[in-house]
Amino acid sequence: MSVKKIFQIGNKVIRTKAKKVVSFNNASIKKTMKDLVDSMRKYELVGIAAPQIGKSTRIIVTELRKTEYRKKPSDLDKMRVFINPTILSKSKKQVIDYEGCGSVANAMIFGPVKRSYSVTVSARDICGDKFTLNAKGLLARVIQHEIDHLDGITFINHVSDTRKLKSKDEYMKSA
Ligand SMILES: [Zn+2]
Repeated sequence: MSVKKIFQIGNKVIRTKAKKVVSFNNASIKKTMKDLVDSMRKYELVGIAAPQIGKSTRIIVTELRKTEYRKKPSDLDKMRVFINPTILSKSKKQVIDYEGCGSVANAMIFGPVKRSYSVTVSARDICGDKFTLNAKGLLARVIQHEIDHLDGITFINHVSDTRKLKSKDEYMKSA
């Protein structure tokens, strides 16, 4: 178990464009992946990006499961690792839903963000093999949120109506 601290907005690593991974299937990349998974689970997150644990490298992890913030989850999805992910296409259809982030006030604030309903993403796995995934709904949202982190962007940059921001306690009333 290797839980890392989650870096917060205001720290340079959170607003820095992360570097591409060039070397695969080695101890360093496996450790980063394990640290990301352990930290995501410890902090009750459904996705995490390497800059959030202070590593400015293009790796994200997702896992849609039951968490403190999702008491009755409707969408579930296995743990997935995406290295050097790129969004190949996005649906025209966009949807607004609330998001929070471990790096934005330690997930104590939530706001509505409009994102594409579905995306096609290409990435490499831990061995460096390429794969393509079509994702929709919450998984598509989490992938877009995490890829933003690799470019120094957090959900708070996309909140269209700041009057609709909610503290965690208020958000949890409808979660
Ligand atoms: Zn985030």
